[in-house]
Amino acid sequence: MRILVINSGSSSIKYQVVESESGEVLLKGATERIAAGGHAEALAGILEEAAAHTPQAVGHRVVHGGRSFTDSARIDASVEAAIESCVPLAPLHNPANLAGIRAAREVLPDLPQVAVFDTAFHARMPNRARSYALPQDLAEEYGIVRYGFHGSSHSCVAQRAATHLRRPLTELRLISCHLGNGASVCAIEYGTSVETSMGMTPLEGLAMGTRSGDLDPGAVLTLCSELGIKETDTLLNRKSGIAGVSGISNDMRDLEAKAAEGHEGARLAIKIFAHRVRKYIGAYAAVMGGVDAVILTGGIGQNSASMRQRILQRLEFLGLQFEIFANNDAKLSEANPVVDISASHARARSLVVATNEELTIARETARLAKADAPATDLSIPIAISARHLHLDRETMDILFGKGAELEVHKKISQPGQFASKQKVNLIGPRSRIDGVRVLGPLRSKNQVEVSRTDEYKLGVDAPIRGSGKVEGSAPIVLEGPKGTVELSEGLICARRHIHMTPADAEAFGVKQGDEVEVAITGGPRDLTFGDVLVRVKSSYLLEMHIDTDEANAAELSNGAEGDLIYSSAGEGVQGCLRKHAGS
Ligand code: AMP
Repeated sequence: MRILVINSGSSSIKYQVVESESGEVLLKGATERIAAGGHAEALAGILEEAAAHTPQAVGHRVVHGGRSFTDSARIDASVEAAIESCVPLAPLHNPANLAGIRAAREVLPDLPQVAVFDTAFHARMPNRARSYALPQDLAEEYGIVRYGFHGSSHSCVAQRAATHLRRPLTELRLISCHLGNGASVCAIEYGTSVETSMGMTPLEGLAMGTRSGDLDPGAVLTLCSELGIKETDTLLNRKSGIAGVSGISNDMRDLEAKAAEGHEGARLAIKIFAHRVRKYIGAYAAVMGGVDAVILTGGIGQNSASMRQRILQRLEFLGLQFEIFANNDAKLSEANPVVDISASHARARSLVVATNEELTIARETARLAKADAPATDLSIPIAISARHLHLDRETMDILFGKGAELEVHKKISQPGQFASKQKVNLIGPRSRIDGVRVLGPLRSKNQVEVSRTDEYKLGVDAPIRGSGKVEGSAPIVLEGPKGTVELSEGLICARRHIHMTPADAEAFGVKQGDEVEVAITGGPRDLTFGDVLVRVKSSYLLEMHIDTDEANAAELSNGAEGDLIYSSAGEGVQGCLRKHAGS
Protein backbone atom coordinates (compact mmCIF):
# COMPACT_ATOMS: atom_id res chain seq x y z
CA MET A 1 0.00 0.00 0.00
CA ARG A 2 1.33 3.45 -0.87
CA ILE A 3 1.25 5.64 2.20
CA LEU A 4 1.85 9.35 2.50
CA VAL A 5 3.60 9.80 5.85
CA ILE A 6 3.38 13.27 7.34
CA ASN A 7 5.45 14.46 10.27
CA SER A 8 4.11 17.93 10.88
CA GLY A 9 6.25 19.85 13.36
CA SER A 10 5.91 23.38 14.68
CA SER A 11 7.97 24.99 11.91
CA SER A 12 8.59 22.19 9.44
CA ILE A 13 6.76 19.37 7.71
CA LYS A 14 8.65 16.23 6.73
CA TYR A 15 6.93 13.89 4.33
CA GLN A 16 7.42 10.68 2.42
CA VAL A 17 5.44 8.47 0.13
CA VAL A 18 6.35 4.92 1.11
CA GLU A 19 5.40 1.53 -0.23
CA SER A 20 4.49 -0.02 3.12
CA GLU A 21 5.36 -3.62 2.28
CA SER A 22 8.68 -3.21 0.48
CA GLY A 23 9.70 -0.04 2.30
CA GLU A 24 10.51 1.61 -1.03
CA VAL A 25 10.51 5.40 -0.71
CA LEU A 26 8.81 6.98 -3.73
CA LEU A 27 9.03 10.56 -2.56
CA LYS A 28 10.78 12.27 0.31
CA GLY A 29 10.98 15.91 1.27
CA ALA A 30 10.75 18.58 3.93
CA THR A 31 9.30 22.06 4.04
CA GLU A 32 11.15 24.19 6.57
CA ARG A 33 10.45 27.49 8.28
CA ILE A 34 6.67 27.38 8.23
CA ALA A 35 5.15 30.38 9.95
CA ALA A 36 2.41 29.94 12.55
CA GLY A 37 -0.86 29.27 10.68
CA GLY A 38 0.98 28.39 7.49
CA HIS A 39 0.55 24.61 7.70
CA ALA A 40 -2.46 24.41 5.39
CA GLU A 41 -0.67 26.28 2.65
CA ALA A 42 2.55 24.29 3.04
CA LEU A 43 0.63 21.06 3.04
CA ALA A 44 -1.33 21.97 -0.08
CA GLY A 45 1.99 22.12 -1.94
CA ILE A 46 3.15 18.82 -0.44
CA LEU A 47 -0.10 17.07 -1.27
CA GLU A 48 0.05 18.27 -4.84
CA GLU A 49 3.56 16.85 -5.13
CA ALA A 50 2.53 13.59 -3.44
CA ALA A 51 -0.56 13.18 -5.66
CA ALA A 52 1.65 12.09 -8.56
CA HIS A 53 2.41 8.95 -6.54
CA THR A 54 -1.30 8.28 -5.82
CA PRO A 55 -1.11 7.55 -2.10
CA GLN A 56 -3.85 5.26 -0.79
CA ALA A 57 -3.79 6.44 2.81
CA VAL A 58 -2.18 9.09 4.97
CA GLY A 59 -0.26 8.35 8.17
CA HIS A 60 0.38 11.14 10.65
CA ARG A 61 2.98 11.13 13.36
CA VAL A 62 1.37 12.41 16.55
CA VAL A 63 3.64 13.02 19.51
CA HIS A 64 1.26 12.72 22.44
CA GLY A 65 -1.64 10.32 22.72
CA GLY A 66 -1.99 10.77 26.49
CA ARG A 67 -4.05 8.06 28.12
CA SER A 68 -6.57 8.06 25.29
CA PHE A 69 -4.47 6.10 22.82
CA THR A 70 -2.72 2.84 23.47
CA ASP A 71 -2.54 2.04 19.77
CA SER A 72 -2.57 3.84 16.44
CA ALA A 73 -6.01 5.13 15.46
CA ARG A 74 -7.98 5.69 12.29
CA ILE A 75 -8.75 9.41 12.37
CA ASP A 76 -12.29 10.70 12.60
CA ALA A 77 -13.84 13.66 14.43
CA SER A 78 -13.67 11.93 17.82
CA VAL A 79 -10.02 10.93 17.39
CA GLU A 80 -9.21 14.49 16.30
CA ALA A 81 -10.94 15.80 19.43
CA ALA A 82 -9.02 13.35 21.63
CA ILE A 83 -5.71 14.48 20.10
CA GLU A 84 -6.78 18.05 20.79
CA SER A 85 -7.42 17.13 24.43
CA CYS A 86 -3.77 16.01 24.68
CA VAL A 87 -2.51 19.48 23.64
CA PRO A 88 -1.77 20.53 27.25
CA LEU A 89 0.58 17.52 27.49
CA ALA A 90 2.56 18.50 24.37
CA PRO A 91 1.86 22.18 23.73
CA LEU A 92 4.53 22.50 21.05
CA HIS A 93 3.97 19.28 19.17
CA ASN A 94 0.31 18.28 19.19
CA PRO A 95 -1.06 21.55 17.70
CA ALA A 96 1.40 21.19 14.81
CA ASN A 97 0.44 17.53 14.35
CA LEU A 98 -3.23 18.53 14.37
CA ALA A 99 -2.65 21.27 11.81
CA GLY A 100 -1.19 18.62 9.50
CA ILE A 101 -4.12 16.26 10.12
CA ARG A 102 -6.71 18.95 9.46
CA ALA A 103 -5.09 20.16 6.29
CA ALA A 104 -4.71 16.62 4.94
CA ARG A 105 -8.28 15.68 5.78
CA GLU A 106 -9.53 18.74 3.98
CA VAL A 107 -7.49 18.21 0.84
CA LEU A 108 -7.76 14.41 0.77
CA PRO A 109 -11.17 13.70 2.35
CA ASP A 110 -11.53 10.34 0.61
CA LEU A 111 -8.30 8.80 1.87
CA PRO A 112 -8.18 6.97 5.20
CA GLN A 113 -6.04 8.88 7.67
CA VAL A 114 -4.28 7.27 10.60
CA ALA A 115 -2.59 8.77 13.67
CA VAL A 116 0.49 6.95 14.94
CA PHE A 117 1.46 8.05 18.44
CA ASP A 118 4.96 8.32 19.89
CA THR A 119 3.49 7.39 23.26
CA ALA A 120 1.44 4.30 22.32
CA PHE A 121 4.34 1.83 22.38
CA HIS A 122 4.78 2.52 26.11
CA ALA A 123 1.11 2.13 27.02
CA ARG A 124 1.66 -1.24 28.72
CA MET A 125 4.45 -0.07 31.02
CA PRO A 126 3.91 -1.40 34.55
CA ASN A 127 2.60 1.05 37.09
CA ARG A 128 5.84 1.11 39.05
CA ALA A 129 7.57 2.56 35.98
CA ARG A 130 4.68 4.74 34.89
CA SER A 131 4.05 6.38 38.26
CA TYR A 132 6.05 9.17 39.78
CA ALA A 133 6.37 9.20 43.56
CA LEU A 134 3.69 11.83 44.06
CA PRO A 135 0.30 11.67 45.75
CA GLN A 136 -1.50 9.55 43.18
CA ASP A 137 -4.77 11.53 43.23
CA LEU A 138 -2.87 14.62 42.26
CA ALA A 139 -0.80 12.85 39.63
CA GLU A 140 -4.01 11.47 38.13
CA GLU A 141 -5.70 14.86 38.11
CA TYR A 142 -2.86 16.56 36.24
CA GLY A 143 -1.82 13.60 34.09
CA ILE A 144 1.62 13.50 35.70
CA VAL A 145 2.72 10.02 34.71
CA ARG A 146 5.46 8.63 32.48
CA TYR A 147 4.10 8.39 28.95
CA GLY A 148 7.39 7.87 27.10
CA PHE A 149 8.09 8.88 23.49
CA HIS A 150 10.00 7.75 20.38
CA GLY A 151 7.69 4.72 20.29
CA SER A 152 7.84 4.31 16.50
CA SER A 153 11.62 4.24 16.62
CA HIS A 154 11.98 1.91 19.60
CA SER A 155 9.47 -0.56 18.16
CA CYS A 156 11.11 -0.40 14.72
CA VAL A 157 14.64 -1.12 15.94
CA ALA A 158 13.49 -3.77 18.42
CA GLN A 159 11.79 -5.65 15.59
CA ARG A 160 14.81 -5.25 13.35
CA ALA A 161 17.10 -6.53 16.11
CA ALA A 162 14.89 -9.56 16.69
CA THR A 163 14.80 -10.33 12.96
CA HIS A 164 18.59 -10.04 12.81
CA LEU A 165 19.06 -12.29 15.84
CA ARG A 166 16.52 -14.76 14.40
CA ARG A 167 14.67 -14.83 17.68
CA PRO A 168 11.13 -13.81 18.54
CA LEU A 169 10.83 -10.42 20.18
CA THR A 170 8.89 -12.15 22.94
CA GLU A 171 12.07 -13.98 24.02
CA LEU A 172 14.37 -10.96 24.18
CA ARG A 173 15.30 -8.35 26.74
CA LEU A 174 16.44 -5.33 24.74
CA ILE A 175 17.75 -1.91 25.67
CA SER A 176 17.06 0.46 22.81
CA CYS A 177 19.04 3.72 22.84
CA HIS A 178 17.61 6.24 20.38
CA LEU A 179 20.36 8.85 20.29
CA GLY A 180 19.50 11.75 18.04
CA ASN A 181 18.79 15.39 18.62
CA GLY A 182 16.04 14.08 20.87
CA ALA A 183 17.21 11.01 22.77
CA SER A 184 15.66 8.30 24.89
CA VAL A 185 16.39 4.82 26.18
CA CYS A 186 13.77 2.10 26.40
CA ALA A 187 13.78 -1.24 28.19
CA ILE A 188 11.85 -3.70 26.03
CA GLU A 189 11.19 -6.87 27.96
CA TYR A 190 9.86 -9.70 25.84
CA GLY A 191 8.31 -7.27 23.36
CA THR A 192 6.80 -4.77 25.82
CA SER A 193 8.19 -1.40 26.81
CA VAL A 194 8.67 -1.70 30.58
CA GLU A 195 10.68 1.49 31.21
CA THR A 196 11.73 4.50 29.21
CA SER A 197 13.74 7.58 29.99
CA MET A 198 11.41 10.24 28.62
CA GLY A 199 8.55 10.89 30.98
CA MET A 200 5.41 12.98 31.12
CA THR A 201 7.14 15.14 28.50
CA PRO A 202 10.13 14.53 26.22
CA LEU A 203 12.27 16.61 28.60
CA GLU A 204 13.22 13.85 31.05
CA GLY A 205 16.11 11.44 30.77
CA LEU A 206 19.19 11.69 28.60
CA ALA A 207 21.06 14.89 27.85
CA MET A 208 19.82 15.86 24.37
CA GLY A 209 20.65 18.35 21.65
CA THR A 210 19.10 21.26 23.51
CA ARG A 211 17.07 19.58 26.29
CA SER A 212 18.53 19.14 29.74
CA GLY A 213 17.14 15.69 30.48
CA ASP A 214 17.22 14.62 34.15
CA LEU A 215 17.52 17.45 36.61
CA ASP A 216 16.89 17.66 40.34
CA PRO A 217 13.29 18.96 40.70
CA GLY A 218 14.75 21.25 43.37
CA ALA A 219 16.93 22.84 40.69
CA VAL A 220 13.84 23.43 38.56
CA LEU A 221 12.20 25.20 41.50
CA THR A 222 15.27 27.40 41.94
CA LEU A 223 15.34 28.24 38.25
CA CYS A 224 11.62 29.01 38.22
CA SER A 225 11.93 31.37 41.15
CA GLU A 226 15.02 33.07 39.71
CA LEU A 227 14.10 33.22 36.01
CA GLY A 228 10.34 32.72 35.94
CA ILE A 229 8.50 29.78 34.42
CA LYS A 230 8.64 30.86 30.78
CA GLU A 231 12.36 31.52 30.79
CA THR A 232 13.02 28.25 32.63
CA ASP A 233 10.97 26.40 30.03
CA THR A 234 13.05 27.96 27.24
CA LEU A 235 16.26 27.23 29.10
CA LEU A 236 15.51 23.56 29.75
CA ASN A 237 13.96 22.78 26.36
CA ARG A 238 15.99 24.93 23.99
CA LYS A 239 19.20 26.11 25.58
CA SER A 240 20.43 23.14 27.59
CA GLY A 241 21.65 19.65 26.72
CA ILE A 242 24.88 19.33 24.78
CA ALA A 243 24.30 22.76 23.21
CA GLY A 244 24.02 24.38 26.63
CA VAL A 245 26.93 22.55 28.22
CA SER A 246 29.30 23.10 25.29
CA GLY A 247 28.14 26.61 24.47
CA ILE A 248 28.79 25.68 20.83
CA SER A 249 26.16 23.60 19.09
CA ASN A 250 23.48 20.95 19.46
CA ASP A 251 25.15 18.94 16.69
CA MET A 252 27.32 16.07 17.88
CA ARG A 253 29.51 16.33 14.79
CA ASP A 254 30.47 19.90 15.71
CA LEU A 255 31.20 18.85 19.28
CA GLU A 256 33.37 15.93 18.22
CA ALA A 257 35.36 18.22 15.93
CA LYS A 258 35.79 20.88 18.64
CA ALA A 259 36.61 18.32 21.34
CA ALA A 260 39.41 16.99 19.15
CA GLU A 261 40.80 20.53 19.11
CA GLY A 262 40.72 20.60 22.91
CA HIS A 263 37.50 22.55 23.56
CA GLU A 264 36.64 21.93 27.23
CA GLY A 265 32.90 22.61 26.90
CA ALA A 266 32.58 20.19 23.96
CA ARG A 267 34.51 17.53 25.88
CA LEU A 268 32.30 17.86 28.94
CA ALA A 269 29.12 17.74 26.84
CA ILE A 270 30.27 14.52 25.15
CA LYS A 271 31.19 12.96 28.50
CA ILE A 272 27.86 13.87 30.08
CA PHE A 273 26.00 12.50 27.07
CA ALA A 274 27.84 9.15 27.13
CA HIS A 275 27.77 8.85 30.91
CA ARG A 276 24.05 9.24 31.06
CA VAL A 277 23.40 6.65 28.35
CA ARG A 278 25.66 4.19 30.23
CA LYS A 279 23.82 4.91 33.45
CA TYR A 280 20.48 4.10 31.85
CA ILE A 281 21.81 0.91 30.26
CA GLY A 282 22.94 -0.29 33.69
CA ALA A 283 19.64 0.70 35.26
CA TYR A 284 17.52 -0.97 32.60
CA ALA A 285 19.57 -4.17 32.74
CA ALA A 286 18.71 -4.18 36.45
CA VAL A 287 15.04 -3.47 35.72
CA MET A 288 14.84 -6.49 33.39
CA GLY A 289 17.17 -8.72 35.39
CA GLY A 290 19.54 -8.94 32.43
CA VAL A 291 19.91 -7.91 28.83
CA ASP A 292 20.20 -9.87 25.58
CA ALA A 293 21.10 -6.95 23.31
CA VAL A 294 21.75 -3.24 23.42
CA ILE A 295 20.62 -1.29 20.36
CA LEU A 296 22.23 1.98 19.33
CA THR A 297 20.23 4.05 16.87
CA GLY A 298 19.32 7.64 15.90
CA GLY A 299 21.69 10.07 14.18
CA ILE A 300 24.35 9.73 16.87
CA GLY A 301 23.89 6.03 17.62
CA GLN A 302 24.00 5.11 13.93
CA ASN A 303 26.87 7.37 12.92
CA SER A 304 29.24 8.14 15.77
CA ALA A 305 31.64 5.24 16.36
CA SER A 306 33.43 7.19 19.07
CA MET A 307 30.22 7.81 21.00
CA ARG A 308 29.29 4.14 20.70
CA GLN A 309 32.70 3.18 22.09
CA ARG A 310 32.34 5.60 25.02
CA ILE A 311 28.94 4.12 25.79
CA LEU A 312 29.78 0.45 25.45
CA GLN A 313 33.21 0.35 27.06
CA ARG A 314 33.43 -1.35 30.47
CA LEU A 315 30.04 -3.00 30.14
CA GLU A 316 31.58 -6.48 30.03
CA PHE A 317 29.94 -7.23 33.37
CA LEU A 318 26.64 -7.20 31.49
CA GLY A 319 28.03 -9.57 28.89
CA LEU A 320 28.47 -6.72 26.40
CA GLN A 321 31.80 -6.95 24.62
CA PHE A 322 32.27 -5.28 21.28
CA GLU A 323 34.88 -5.41 18.52
CA ILE A 324 36.63 -2.07 18.09
CA PHE A 325 37.11 -2.44 14.36
CA ALA A 326 33.59 -3.72 13.78
CA ASN A 327 32.36 -0.65 15.61
CA ASN A 328 34.58 1.70 13.63
CA ASP A 329 33.50 0.16 10.33
CA ALA A 330 29.77 -0.18 11.01
CA LYS A 331 27.86 1.08 7.98
CA LEU A 332 24.12 0.90 7.81
CA SER A 333 21.67 1.02 4.95
CA GLU A 334 17.99 0.26 4.51
CA ALA A 335 19.04 -2.98 2.81
CA ASN A 336 21.36 -3.76 5.70
CA PRO A 337 19.80 -2.03 8.71
CA VAL A 338 21.56 -4.00 11.49
CA VAL A 339 25.28 -4.33 12.15
CA ASP A 340 26.34 -6.57 15.03
CA ILE A 341 29.52 -5.14 16.55
CA SER A 342 29.74 -7.68 19.40
CA ALA A 343 32.74 -9.85 20.05
CA SER A 344 31.88 -13.37 18.92
CA HIS A 345 31.99 -14.72 22.49
CA ALA A 346 29.90 -11.89 23.99
CA ARG A 347 26.93 -13.09 26.05
CA ALA A 348 24.86 -10.07 25.04
CA ARG A 349 24.84 -8.44 21.63
CA SER A 350 25.78 -4.85 20.78
CA LEU A 351 23.78 -3.84 17.72
CA VAL A 352 23.90 -0.71 15.60
CA VAL A 353 20.48 -0.43 13.99
CA ALA A 354 19.06 1.99 11.43
CA THR A 355 15.73 3.32 12.62
CA ASN A 356 12.96 4.08 10.18
CA GLU A 357 10.10 5.81 11.91
CA GLU A 358 8.41 6.66 8.61
CA LEU A 359 8.25 3.01 7.59
CA THR A 360 6.82 2.11 10.99
CA ILE A 361 4.19 4.81 10.56
CA ALA A 362 3.50 3.63 7.00
CA ARG A 363 3.02 0.03 8.15
CA GLU A 364 0.78 1.03 11.02
CA THR A 365 -1.24 3.18 8.63
CA ALA A 366 -1.58 0.35 6.12
CA ARG A 367 -2.69 -2.00 8.89
CA LEU A 368 -5.47 0.34 10.00
CA ALA A 369 -6.40 1.67 6.57
CA LYS A 370 -7.37 -1.75 5.24
CA ALA A 371 -11.05 -1.91 4.37
CA ASP A 372 -12.04 -3.98 7.39
CA ALA A 373 -10.17 -1.89 9.92
CA PRO A 374 -12.14 0.22 12.35
CA ALA A 375 -13.04 3.75 11.31
CA THR A 376 -12.83 4.65 14.95
CA ASP A 377 -10.76 3.25 17.73
CA LEU A 378 -13.28 0.84 19.19
CA SER A 379 -11.19 -0.33 22.05
CA ILE A 380 -12.70 -0.27 25.49
CA PRO A 381 -11.06 1.39 28.46
CA ILE A 382 -10.68 -1.01 31.35
CA ALA A 383 -11.25 -0.10 34.99
CA ILE A 384 -10.15 -2.38 37.76
CA SER A 385 -12.52 -2.59 40.70
CA ALA A 386 -10.98 -3.23 44.07
CA ARG A 387 -13.22 -4.96 46.61
CA HIS A 388 -15.99 -2.58 47.68
CA LEU A 389 -19.56 -2.45 48.90
CA HIS A 390 -22.84 -0.62 48.43
CA LEU A 391 -25.12 -0.05 51.42
CA ASP A 392 -28.80 0.57 51.97
CA ARG A 393 -30.07 3.23 54.35
CA GLU A 394 -30.86 0.84 57.18
CA THR A 395 -27.44 -0.83 57.16
CA MET A 396 -25.73 2.55 56.88
CA ASP A 397 -27.55 3.67 60.04
CA ILE A 398 -26.40 0.63 62.00
CA LEU A 399 -22.78 0.70 60.82
CA PHE A 400 -22.16 4.46 60.99
CA GLY A 401 -24.92 5.79 63.28
CA LYS A 402 -28.47 6.94 62.65
CA GLY A 403 -28.72 9.45 59.81
CA ALA A 404 -25.01 9.22 58.90
CA GLU A 405 -24.27 10.25 55.32
CA LEU A 406 -21.58 9.02 52.97
CA GLU A 407 -18.87 11.62 52.40
CA VAL A 408 -17.18 11.87 49.01
CA HIS A 409 -13.57 10.65 49.03
CA LYS A 410 -13.28 10.92 45.27
CA LYS A 411 -15.46 10.67 42.23
CA ILE A 412 -15.30 7.47 40.24
CA SER A 413 -15.65 7.19 36.51
CA GLN A 414 -19.33 6.30 36.25
CA PRO A 415 -21.28 9.56 36.46
CA GLY A 416 -22.85 10.34 39.83
CA GLN A 417 -20.97 7.62 41.71
CA PHE A 418 -18.21 8.13 44.21
CA ALA A 419 -15.84 6.36 46.55
CA SER A 420 -16.81 7.47 50.03
CA LYS A 421 -14.57 8.18 52.98
CA GLN A 422 -16.36 5.45 54.95
CA LYS A 423 -14.85 1.99 55.23
CA VAL A 424 -16.22 -1.25 56.62
CA ASN A 425 -14.62 -4.47 57.85
CA LEU A 426 -15.75 -7.78 56.34
CA ILE A 427 -15.83 -10.74 58.71
CA GLY A 428 -16.00 -14.22 57.25
CA PRO A 429 -15.87 -17.64 58.89
CA ARG A 430 -12.14 -18.02 58.17
CA SER A 431 -10.75 -14.50 58.57
CA ARG A 432 -11.51 -10.85 58.04
CA ILE A 433 -10.66 -8.10 55.58
CA ASP A 434 -10.56 -4.64 57.10
CA GLY A 435 -10.98 -1.23 55.52
CA VAL A 436 -13.22 -2.04 52.54
CA ARG A 437 -14.48 1.12 50.91
CA VAL A 438 -18.16 1.97 50.60
CA LEU A 439 -19.25 3.38 47.25
CA GLY A 440 -21.96 6.01 47.12
CA PRO A 441 -24.69 6.98 46.80
CA LEU A 442 -26.73 4.64 49.01
CA ARG A 443 -28.74 1.97 47.18
CA SER A 444 -31.92 0.04 47.80
CA LYS A 445 -29.98 -3.18 48.51
CA ASN A 446 -26.70 -4.07 50.18
CA GLN A 447 -24.11 -5.50 47.86
CA VAL A 448 -20.55 -6.54 48.75
CA GLU A 449 -18.22 -7.24 45.82
CA VAL A 450 -15.06 -9.26 46.40
CA SER A 451 -12.58 -11.18 44.28
CA ARG A 452 -12.05 -14.93 44.31
CA THR A 453 -8.82 -14.40 46.28
CA ASP A 454 -10.81 -12.44 48.89
CA GLU A 455 -13.31 -15.28 49.10
CA TYR A 456 -10.63 -17.78 50.02
CA LYS A 457 -9.28 -15.42 52.62
CA LEU A 458 -12.72 -14.84 54.14
CA GLY A 459 -13.70 -18.49 53.79
CA VAL A 460 -16.89 -17.79 51.87
CA ASP A 461 -18.33 -18.96 48.60
CA ALA A 462 -19.90 -16.13 46.61
CA PRO A 463 -21.81 -16.57 43.38
CA ILE A 464 -20.89 -14.64 40.25
CA ARG A 465 -23.62 -12.08 39.79
CA GLY A 466 -24.41 -8.97 37.81
CA SER A 467 -24.83 -5.83 39.89
CA GLY A 468 -28.16 -5.68 41.76
CA LYS A 469 -28.78 -9.42 41.55
CA VAL A 470 -28.12 -10.30 45.17
CA GLU A 471 -31.06 -12.62 45.91
CA GLY A 472 -29.72 -15.91 47.23
CA SER A 473 -26.11 -14.68 47.27
CA ALA A 474 -23.66 -15.39 50.12
CA PRO A 475 -23.92 -14.18 53.73
CA ILE A 476 -21.30 -11.92 55.29
CA VAL A 477 -20.81 -9.92 58.48
CA LEU A 478 -20.15 -6.17 58.18
CA GLU A 479 -18.44 -4.29 60.98
CA GLY A 480 -18.62 -0.50 61.13
CA PRO A 481 -17.51 2.01 63.75
CA LYS A 482 -20.98 2.13 65.30
CA GLY A 483 -22.27 -1.40 64.90
CA THR A 484 -22.23 -4.77 63.21
CA VAL A 485 -24.67 -6.20 60.68
CA GLU A 486 -25.09 -9.82 59.72
CA LEU A 487 -26.19 -9.89 56.09
CA SER A 488 -27.96 -13.11 55.18
CA GLU A 489 -27.20 -12.35 51.53
CA GLY A 490 -25.41 -9.66 49.50
CA LEU A 491 -21.88 -10.99 48.99
CA ILE A 492 -21.07 -11.54 45.32
CA CYS A 493 -18.15 -11.91 42.98
CA ALA A 494 -19.04 -9.30 40.37
CA ARG A 495 -19.67 -10.49 36.90
CA ARG A 496 -17.33 -8.73 34.48
CA HIS A 497 -19.25 -6.22 32.45
CA ILE A 498 -19.03 -3.27 30.11
CA HIS A 499 -20.89 -0.03 30.72
CA MET A 500 -21.82 1.76 27.54
CA THR A 501 -24.21 4.34 26.14
CA PRO A 502 -26.84 3.45 23.50
CA ALA A 503 -24.57 5.17 20.93
CA ASP A 504 -21.61 2.98 21.98
CA ALA A 505 -23.85 -0.09 21.76
CA GLU A 506 -24.84 0.86 18.25
CA ALA A 507 -21.22 1.43 17.23
CA PHE A 508 -20.24 -1.98 18.63
CA GLY A 509 -23.34 -3.68 17.24
CA VAL A 510 -24.39 -5.04 20.62
CA LYS A 511 -27.37 -4.55 22.96
CA GLN A 512 -28.23 -4.60 26.66
CA GLY A 513 -27.73 -8.07 28.13
CA ASP A 514 -25.49 -9.37 25.33
CA GLU A 515 -22.50 -11.46 26.30
CA VAL A 516 -19.30 -10.61 24.50
CA GLU A 517 -15.64 -11.38 24.60
CA VAL A 518 -12.94 -8.80 25.17
CA ALA A 519 -9.40 -9.43 24.01
CA ILE A 520 -6.36 -8.00 25.73
CA THR A 521 -3.43 -7.99 23.32
CA GLY A 522 0.01 -6.52 23.01
CA GLY A 523 1.15 -7.21 26.56
CA PRO A 524 3.08 -9.83 28.44
CA ARG A 525 -0.02 -11.91 29.36
CA ASP A 526 -2.56 -11.61 26.56
CA LEU A 527 -5.94 -12.89 27.54
CA THR A 528 -9.47 -12.98 26.17
CA PHE A 529 -12.20 -12.49 28.74
CA GLY A 530 -15.40 -14.36 27.97
CA ASP A 531 -18.90 -13.97 29.48
CA VAL A 532 -18.63 -10.20 29.59
CA LEU A 533 -22.05 -8.68 30.16
CA VAL A 534 -23.07 -5.60 28.15
CA ARG A 535 -24.91 -2.98 30.21
CA VAL A 536 -26.41 -0.07 28.30
CA LYS A 537 -27.70 3.19 29.78
CA SER A 538 -27.46 6.73 28.51
CA SER A 539 -25.80 7.90 31.74
CA TYR A 540 -22.97 5.33 31.49
CA LEU A 541 -19.41 5.99 30.42
CA LEU A 542 -17.79 3.42 28.14
CA GLU A 543 -15.74 1.20 30.42
CA MET A 544 -15.20 -2.47 31.16
CA HIS A 545 -15.10 -3.39 34.84
CA ILE A 546 -13.05 -6.30 36.07
CA ASP A 547 -11.81 -7.19 39.51
CA THR A 548 -8.24 -7.31 40.75
CA ASP A 549 -7.82 -11.05 40.18
CA GLU A 550 -8.91 -10.69 36.58
CA ALA A 551 -6.61 -7.71 36.06
CA ASN A 552 -3.69 -9.59 37.57
CA ALA A 553 -4.32 -12.56 35.31
CA ALA A 554 -3.87 -10.32 32.25
CA GLU A 555 -1.26 -8.12 33.96
CA LEU A 556 -3.36 -5.03 33.43
CA SER A 557 -3.42 -1.71 35.19
CA ASN A 558 -5.97 1.09 35.04
CA GLY A 559 -5.79 2.90 31.72
CA ALA A 560 -5.43 -0.35 29.76
CA GLU A 561 -7.77 -1.12 26.90
CA GLY A 562 -9.34 -4.18 25.39
CA ASP A 563 -10.89 -4.98 22.01
CA LEU A 564 -14.44 -6.18 21.74
CA ILE A 565 -14.98 -9.51 20.12
CA TYR A 566 -18.54 -10.68 19.70
CA SER A 567 -19.80 -14.15 19.54
CA SER A 568 -22.04 -14.73 16.58
CA ALA A 569 -23.34 -17.96 18.13
CA GLY A 570 -26.80 -16.40 18.37
CA GLU A 571 -26.98 -16.43 14.60
CA GLY A 572 -26.05 -20.07 14.53
CA VAL A 573 -22.49 -19.41 13.47
CA GLN A 574 -19.74 -21.11 15.39
CA GLY A 575 -16.79 -19.23 16.71
CA CYS A 576 -15.98 -15.63 17.32
CA LEU A 577 -15.38 -12.68 15.16
CA ARG A 578 -13.29 -9.68 15.98
CA LYS A 579 -15.74 -6.83 15.73
CA HIS A 580 -14.73 -3.75 13.83
CA ALA A 581 -16.86 -0.84 12.74
CA GLY A 582 -17.50 -0.87 9.04
CA SER A 583 -16.89 -4.61 8.73
P1 AMP B 1 18.70 12.71 14.55
O1 AMP B 1 17.92 13.63 15.45
O2 AMP B 1 18.40 11.26 14.79
O3 AMP B 1 18.64 13.10 13.11
O4 AMP B 1 20.24 12.87 14.97
C1 AMP B 1 20.91 14.10 14.88
C2 AMP B 1 22.20 14.00 15.64
O5 AMP B 1 23.00 12.97 15.05
C3 AMP B 1 23.00 15.28 15.61
O6 AMP B 1 23.55 15.53 16.87
C4 AMP B 1 24.11 14.92 14.63
O7 AMP B 1 25.25 15.65 14.90
C5 AMP B 1 24.32 13.48 14.92
N1 AMP B 1 25.10 12.86 13.85
C6 AMP B 1 24.75 12.60 12.58
N2 AMP B 1 25.79 12.07 11.90
C7 AMP B 1 26.84 12.00 12.75
C8 AMP B 1 28.20 11.55 12.67
N3 AMP B 1 28.68 11.06 11.54
N4 AMP B 1 28.95 11.63 13.78
C9 AMP B 1 28.48 12.12 14.92
N5 AMP B 1 27.22 12.56 15.07
C10 AMP B 1 26.40 12.50 14.01
